[in-house]
Amino acid sequence: MSDTSTLAPEQKSMEELVSLCKRRGFVYPASEIYGGINGFWDYGPLGIALKNNIRDHWWKHMVDCPPIGPDGEPVSIVGLDSSIIQNPKTWEASGHVGGFSDPMVDCTESKKRYRADHVLCATAKAEKNGEVRELGFLAVLDGDQAPADFEKRASKLCKKTGGGEVLPVTHDDFAEFHTLPREQQLLVLGPDATQPGTLTEPREFNLMFETYVGAIRDDSAKAYLRPETAQGIFLNYKNVLDTMRVKMPFGIAQIGKSFRNEVTPRNFIFRSREFEQMEMEWFCSPEDSLKWYEFWKNERMKWWESLGINTDNLIFRDHDDDELAHYSNACVDVEYKYPFTAPGYGELEGVAHRGCFDLTQHQTHAKTKLEYFDQDLQVKLQKEGVDKDEIKKRTRYVPNVIEPASGLTRAVLVLLCEAFTPDESRPSKVYMKFKPKFAPIKAGIFPLVNKDGMPEIAQKLYMQLREKFTCQYDVKQSIGKRYARMDEAGTPYCFTIDGDTLNDNTVTVRDRDSQEQTRIPIDQVESFLAEKLSD
Ligand code: ATP
Repeated sequence: MSDTSTLAPEQKSMEELVSLCKRRGFVYPASEIYGGINGFWDYGPLGIALKNNIRDHWWKHMVDCPPIGPDGEPVSIVGLDSSIIQNPKTWEASGHVGGFSDPMVDCTESKKRYRADHVLCATAKAEKNGEVRELGFLAVLDGDQAPADFEKRASKLCKKTGGGEVLPVTHDDFAEFHTLPREQQLLVLGPDATQPGTLTEPREFNLMFETYVGAIRDDSAKAYLRPETAQGIFLNYKNVLDTMRVKMPFGIAQIGKSFRNEVTPRNFIFRSREFEQMEMEWFCSPEDSLKWYEFWKNERMKWWESLGINTDNLIFRDHDDDELAHYSNACVDVEYKYPFTAPGYGELEGVAHRGCFDLTQHQTHAKTKLEYFDQDLQVKLQKEGVDKDEIKKRTRYVPNVIEPASGLTRAVLVLLCEAFTPDESRPSKVYMKFKPKFAPIKAGIFPLVNKDGMPEIAQKLYMQLREKFTCQYDVKQSIGKRYARMDEAGTPYCFTIDGDTLNDNTVTVRDRDSQEQTRIPIDQVESFLAEKLSD
């Protein structure tokens, strides 16, 4: 019996993972009995437990026990839970009403709609008897293993048109649909089309969900479901400053639902229309902002590593200058190697230096002063003998903002992908190798058989442990089947009460990863678990 080594993301099947998530109650398609609704998901009993574990870990790291800053003192961050619907002027000020849109294309044949920057096009070529032929200009969707999908489509086309060997393409050979001249767009065979030229010109599409507040349904009552949690933080910046005795630099953290009418929701819960975010806005003086940007960039990577994610699967991707928003000085994404992006990576979190853009926008639109007078900086500059006028200039400012913005539901996906470990040698054929601290169920408690005093002892142990850890008591079916169920749920430890327990007060501990079984005294189970879950 051995610990199965961790598989590379490209060797993991999303289809099998999605099926396990359904089978074991992690994630269900929303409204499934009505045929589902594209882009929406429900988190089942194990899914919500996993999500809560990640959420609590983030909150602890941000709000209850924030990191130690460069000066050796813990940084100061407070929490917030703002409303999902805010005054619609919020989204005019933030730029979402005018600019929160993706260019998208429609396919007149398949009636499907895609984000233009997700439609990748390249020329398919085949070789037969030493001669290279162009089969056509093919499009596939990014994020769905683009080169592999491209080869599949090219092979079909090749078979239809005389056969041969399809020549491979790489990521570099692809062009995004919207970057092509229109004459060339008309030659493209769309991702779900049988004829070329069915993709329309890209058009803007606002991603915010609209609703109406109150009884009357006209433009004056129009409001939006928030597309990010961040704006609720900016709207409360002054409230927090005035009521919480915080001073620069400090952060406001928030976790909650966000909604985006994504053009092409896909890749399971990666891109959905309703999702959860974990965002923190760090307010600081303009002159310290780059220092804090570096600080948060590194802190966030450390945090992701603390979830037990293999460091080979995490990278930073600095945004190029042409990718940066006009107000942003710097932005980096933390990316993960998802099974559907491998060998490439996909976004997990963005850490952005947003300058003073957001507060300045709200200051202007709401006609409310959001400037800060930095008394600490004044004292420091006075001590340094800085000129009076310069002190005045530098100590009154609209704070700069560093924003680590991550997806909670995307973090759930990452831990599911990371944990998914096929193992043919087990009855379950697969197990979920969560870091024990994040496992939805921490321990299974089983009487070997449902008689001879074993259930009573097992129940007593269960009643003791459930106060401290999420445990499951199970008496049904063979012990092998019970272990198999716990393997699929990712439960790191199972404790079995058997015949020997009656004689010597010991229980069997079965380790999920190694499948090894050892015996420990029953009165040490609690401390055993506490130690294993401490990191
Ligand atoms: P993308 O470019 O993939 O659309 P984004 O850069 O617009 O994402 P942000 O606005 O920076 O994303 O949002 C911060 C985080 O929120 C992302 O890193 C991601 O983890 C999460 N997120 C954004 N959109 C979605 C979505 N549709 N479904 C799930 N999570 C999302």
